[in-house]
Amino acid sequence: MKKVGIIGAGFSSLYAACYLAKRGYSVDVFEKNSMVGGRSQVFVDQGYTFDMGPSWYWMPDVIDRLFSELDEDRKDYFSLQRLDPAYKIFWKDDAPTSIPASKQELIALFDSFEPNGGKKLVTFLKDAEKKYKISMHSFIEIPGVKIGELLKYNILSEGLKLSVFKSVEKDVANRFTSEKARNILNFPVLFLGERAHKIPALYTLMNYADLELGTWYPEGGMGALAKALEKIGTKYGVRYHFHAPVDKIITKNDTAVGLKVNGTDHAFDAIIAGADYHHVEQQLISKSHRRYDETYWNSRKLAPSALLFYVGLNKQFEQFSHHNLFFDEALKLHGEEIYESPKWPTKPLFYVCAASKTDSDIAPAGHENLMILMPIAPNLKDDKANQETYFELILSRIEQQFGESIAPHIVYKKSFSVDDFKSTYNAYKGNAYGLANTLKQTAHFKPKLKSKLKNVYFCGQLTVPGPGIPPSLISGKIAANQLDTSK
Ligand SMILES: Cc1cc2nc3c(=O)[nH]c(=O)nc-3n(C[C@H](O)[C@H](O)[C@H](O)COP(=O)(O)OP(=O)(O)OC[C@H]3O[C@@H](n4cnc5c(N)ncnc54)[C@H](O)[C@@H]3O)c2cc1C
Repeated sequence: MKKVGIIGAGFSSLYAACYLAKRGYSVDVFEKNSMVGGRSQVFVDQGYTFDMGPSWYWMPDVIDRLFSELDEDRKDYFSLQRLDPAYKIFWKDDAPTSIPASKQELIALFDSFEPNGGKKLVTFLKDAEKKYKISMHSFIEIPGVKIGELLKYNILSEGLKLSVFKSVEKDVANRFTSEKARNILNFPVLFLGERAHKIPALYTLMNYADLELGTWYPEGGMGALAKALEKIGTKYGVRYHFHAPVDKIITKNDTAVGLKVNGTDHAFDAIIAGADYHHVEQQLISKSHRRYDETYWNSRKLAPSALLFYVGLNKQFEQFSHHNLFFDEALKLHGEEIYESPKWPTKPLFYVCAASKTDSDIAPAGHENLMILMPIAPNLKDDKANQETYFELILSRIEQQFGESIAPHIVYKKSFSVDDFKSTYNAYKGNAYGLANTLKQTAHFKPKLKSKLKNVYFCGQLTVPGPGIPPSLISGKIAANQLDTSK
């Protein structure tokens, strides 16, 4: 039986572990922290249960398919609830907009923004659906090893027909005139770590995911997905080791022969690295076996880091929906302060997740559980006093929208930012979402899944296909499949 060592227990690693164990490999997963999930860890304190990272469960079809590829049914592990409204947007000097789950209501909403808005939306979503289908059924699972892979799936010819290489912003602006429609349709690419004018229109597939496939909430919170994969892995014999930071990939000539973990050597026939790519190459692999150097990494466009607050309120506020986007300041300035001239933002946009609206188990009765996220440039100097200034600013913006004070109701608060991303996950420059999905960093232009070491494969949000839960899971599958077919 071939022995595989896996570094990290984020989504990509967890999926790779299940995939390989099911095929008869002996699998050990080493995680520096105390639980599975990686950036999707969970913590419980004073009666509140906080999902620390992801909160938007999108593309349920892709996740279900990945379960079935393990001969498992996702429904045996957790149920899903479609959120309606999917999310709520707060504007400056205007009533908030709730995005309905129903297509008819959505069309009516777009009709209220501009003449023929609903009809334009239907056409736009048809194109987005084509891109989604091309991507999900071929493109997203290519390992990015040979350029011929793109030709094989007619991706280039199909892509050109759908104008996938112009920007999302242009595609949206050519079709819609109202600011609201444009803002709503430009929003999902924020998940991809760049502004809409830099992201290729291929990624309007995200609008299909958003507006057609919907926003869902897993029973038990986002942590349920990682727990389900841990269970499946255990069933197939995966051994999980926590508080087990990997110090080094042990090599002989050009081949990995094991992992040094907490000072102890463990022998393996192959390795999958699901921890941040930069950390693994720069810290765990000797210089002669690295594919990339610091100059390469410094030239990469990273997706943002984040300032996060986990907050408990002793009162529920009806103004909150489950997902709330505060678009009451200009995205342009905030975007520039993340990507062009990195600094702490002057007038930030932010997002509030009030999952207690859907899940009463994650807060004491009558209380609200909030996760507040403000995207920021990676590697900013980070300190508690500065975080506090932003907390006050965010609070005052919410209070302004709600017309009532929230501050007296705060009974729990914890922050997490750049330095925590570095120390908790070994995240390069404290990134939250990996690399930006710009054209120059898509598919074959991402850090390669295959290491220079013969039997080492990378997975996770810094390699193909990119950031987000479904892509990270797929990344684990691609890496495991490459390892499996190399035998
Ligand atoms: C705040 C936030 C919000 C997000 N929101 C969403 C969302 O709503 N929807 C969505 O789809 N995606 C979202 N994402 C993105 C998504 O969470 C990630 O893309 C995905 O979880 C990344 O998984 P991964 O497998 O690449 O790695 P990670 O989750 O980063 O896991 C890597 C693991 O490796 C471990 N590790 C590091 N070094 C070592 C070492 N030396 N030895 C052992 N272990 C090590 C780390 O501790 C970590 O557990 C969000 C991310 C963040 C941070």
